[in-house]
Amino acid sequence: MTRTLSGDLEAAARIGALDDGGISRFAWTPELREVTQWVAQELERLGLDVETDAAGNLIGRWPAPAGKAVMAASHLDTVPHGGRFDGVLGVLGAIEAVRILRRADFEPVRPIWIAAFMDEEGSRFGTALFGSRAFCGQDVSASLDARDADGITMREAMAAQGFDGDRVGEAARVDEVGAYVELHIEQGPVLDARSERVGLVEAICGVLGYRVALDGEANHAGTTPSEMRHDALVGASRVVLALRERAAARPELSATVGRIRALPGGTNVIPGRCEFTVDLRAATAGSFEAEQVWFERMVAEVCAEEGLTSTVDCDYAVPPTPMAPEVTAAIEAAALGEGITPLRMVSGAGHDAMNVGLYAPAGMLFVPSRAGVSHSPDEWTAVEDCELGARVLADALRRLALRTDI
Ligand SMILES: [Zn+2]
Repeated sequence: MTRTLSGDLEAAARIGALDDGGISRFAWTPELREVTQWVAQELERLGLDVETDAAGNLIGRWPAPAGKAVMAASHLDTVPHGGRFDGVLGVLGAIEAVRILRRADFEPVRPIWIAAFMDEEGSRFGTALFGSRAFCGQDVSASLDARDADGITMREAMAAQGFDGDRVGEAARVDEVGAYVELHIEQGPVLDARSERVGLVEAICGVLGYRVALDGEANHAGTTPSEMRHDALVGASRVVLALRERAAARPELSATVGRIRALPGGTNVIPGRCEFTVDLRAATAGSFEAEQVWFERMVAEVCAEEGLTSTVDCDYAVPPTPMAPEVTAAIEAAALGEGITPLRMVSGAGHDAMNVGLYAPAGMLFVPSRAGVSHSPDEWTAVEDCELGARVLADALRRLALRTDI
């Protein structure tokens, strides 16, 4: 039976499918193992050398005489009740790309690797990008001790599938990679809204995660005149609006307050304390640094005017990852070969490419997400767009696998 990308996507979508909609495949679960084993069979069917590394990453290698590998990868795990394209398309699209190259009797000058990284989403243990972090040789020991909702550590879950957490360092192989390409759905509305079919990612946004607490004075809601109040929630509201205004004026920036709590929380009490989170994303190193300075100054100014004090804790500061010009050029040339000028854009969402891109030249291409919906059972990308993505990926791999200079 002839394999097709749409048939493969259908088959993968059945593994971990839930009765009430969507797909759940989390790290070190039977569902993720089943889909990974199925993909491993497909890689073997293509004649690749298949292995699973110490971090659970599945890698299929198409050997070639010399040089570092050209790698195409993404992930097979999902968010809870996730869709059928996020991650999976990058792996199955890479398989389709190899089929295309095989049919054309292509002979790579350098190896081509197809991979599925373990636990990109971090749905079970809160350990996002685990597999690609291990592949890049980063320290993942803290992730091994993370616990799921049942109190099981990742180390224990790995052991149950025959993996030894102490050996995860053996997965570090990024220095064997010469170029990296990831096909992914956009997970946003831009391509669909503009009727564009291919997005060329120029950078993956950096992310700043803050926890902020503003302290004022709790007091009686009926007896305290406006000018004598130190209302922490009013201060927080000004911060929220300042963030919106800042991001609205800067296309490379997004800002979100996703959680907020006013204390003590009485209907007739002026909030004496307000705690909230801030998620700030910036596409360039310059704006990433400028926004940190601006944000902390803005909070201080609001507090001075409202008579509040503030505590601003930065939980994480992951800088933006620019994509490599030589890889984006290969993707662009491949898209032009399909008669399509790709839309240059930044990725607001994180991907495995942001890890690999720190160590090896990396690039990403996006295909449209219908109405921008993702991380949902309603996630949808048209079959023609998936197939187009695979053809562009194939030609980008072909171009990169013929180069000897990177
Ligand atoms: Zn993804």
